Amino acid sequence: MGSAITEHRRVIVVGAGPVGLTTATNLARLGVSVLVLERHHEVDQSPRAASYQPCAQAELLETGTLEDVKKASIINDVLSFWIKGQRVAHVEKREGGSIFPAGINCPQPKLAEILLHHLTTKYNSDVRFNQKVIEIEQNADGSQVSLLAIDPATDEETKYTCDWLVGADGAGSSVRKLSKIPFEGFSWPKEDFVATNLRYDFFQHGFTTANFIMDPVHWAVVTILDSTGLWRCAFGVRAGLTNEEIQAELDQHYKHIFPVWPVEYELVQLNKYKPHQRCAQTFRKGRVLLVGDAAHSNNPIGGLGLTTGLLDAGPLGRALGAVISGRAPEALLDIWASSRRDKWLNFTNAFSIENKRLIQRAGYSDDPLGIWKIDDVARDHQMEQWLATATPEKEQADLNLYKALEDPQAQLSSRMKQWEITMDPTWMAEYEDPELVKYRISLRPMVLSAPNL
Ligand SMILES: Cc1cc2nc3c(=O)[nH]c(=O)nc-3n(C[C@H](O)[C@H](O)[C@H](O)COP(=O)(O)OP(=O)(O)OC[C@H]3O[C@@H](n4cnc5c(N)ncnc54)[C@H](O)[C@@H]3O)c2cc1C
Repeated sequence: MGSAITEHRRVIVVGAGPVGLTTATNLARLGVSVLVLERHHEVDQSPRAASYQPCAQAELLETGTLEDVKKASIINDVLSFWIKGQRVAHVEKREGGSIFPAGINCPQPKLAEILLHHLTTKYNSDVRFNQKVIEIEQNADGSQVSLLAIDPATDEETKYTCDWLVGADGAGSSVRKLSKIPFEGFSWPKEDFVATNLRYDFFQHGFTTANFIMDPVHWAVVTILDSTGLWRCAFGVRAGLTNEEIQAELDQHYKHIFPVWPVEYELVQLNKYKPHQRCAQTFRKGRVLLVGDAAHSNNPIGGLGLTTGLLDAGPLGRALGAVISGRAPEALLDIWASSRRDKWLNFTNAFSIENKRLIQRAGYSDDPLGIWKIDDVARDHQMEQWLATATPEKEQADLNLYKALEDPQAQLSSRMKQWEITMDPTWMAEYEDPELVKYRISLRPMVLSAPNL
């Protein structure tokens, strides 16, 4: 790192995605000035997260952004399950929470812009765009981290130092790789996922605000995105196609997913992704902390990725703020790191794989790409344990689940399951204002046992 030192910050966050911005806002609210470095010239505009459950809304409430996010959102209150054009079950999200009565949908770039606006206008913190972090070094006595960032447009290099570095730079995290932290697990080798944003009125055919189309090949998640009639249709394709190739064959997918065909629609955005089930070996290495997709990445069915990331970010921002102000010992960060990792490994990972299995009717339907087959490819990726969850007996279990979901109490239980991925609201109570902890507890519904969904 040859360039001159330009500045030192208490905390640098790498990545101006929703998770980095939420971590920074939680710190800034405690009076810790934060610098966020983002490689792009604006927040990422790709079509990704759409739906935020009440537990994620609770974190937005703590950042002071929930009201603005709600204004930019549309209520997502009924999830329907469809098989061969028939609605076999639905979950209503109308009752059951006081402050967070239902799911909300808001395109991820809009959410990030709201968080960015709050962080940069209300607090003493900066977000610097066109700063791609390319080198990281922790000093020998473990008290500081040095970074080198490059402006991708001009190649100009800038050096920073900080007391704490937060890697919130997504699943391909440079912070994680440069810190030599393995990203354990697997990437689904035989398929890619496609997110399309489009204009078409799905409501006219009985679709609800969110829909799982269950099929081994032409599965899809169809959900409303905003009040202008923009919808998300996400589906799977064989691995390795380009966005252009996928767009060229789009109607071959849509015709199996849409309730009627042919129809006129307007395609607004299309992007493909590789689905992962991966987790960093540790979320803390000295003065480097990993959060959000940089720490863990799961397939998006069920909308758990950003939700889990926001549930990391709030507690991390508050814990790091308490450590920096001297109110809490550094060991609090180890508790955060191991608890968040355990939650992901023991809940989010399995839950998201089960959502994928359910929507693909795996275990008892055709599987032309061999996605759920235990073969050499699967063995190479150490996937056997998870593929073994797809068994013929699951057909009856899935049917039982749909039947159970006719019961409003089971629907409520199913929704409450999301709260199991949060930290206990009292986990750092001894370092926080007791009134705040009491309020946080009051926001939670009682967590009930739920059908496996
Ligand atoms: C199709 C799809 C649908 C999804 N739907 C949902 C949903 O409904 N609900 C849900 O909860 N989750 C959903 N997810 C998951 C969600 O999008 C991710 O979990 C979320 O983006 C994670 O946020 P993040 O801030 O951790 O990372 P990111 O959003 O990936 O942000 C990382 C940021 O870091 C920047 N960056 C990267 N490298 C560097 C570097 N070296 N230097 C500086 N900056 C860098 C990037 O440019 C980016 O801005 C979905 C994902 C996909 C693909």
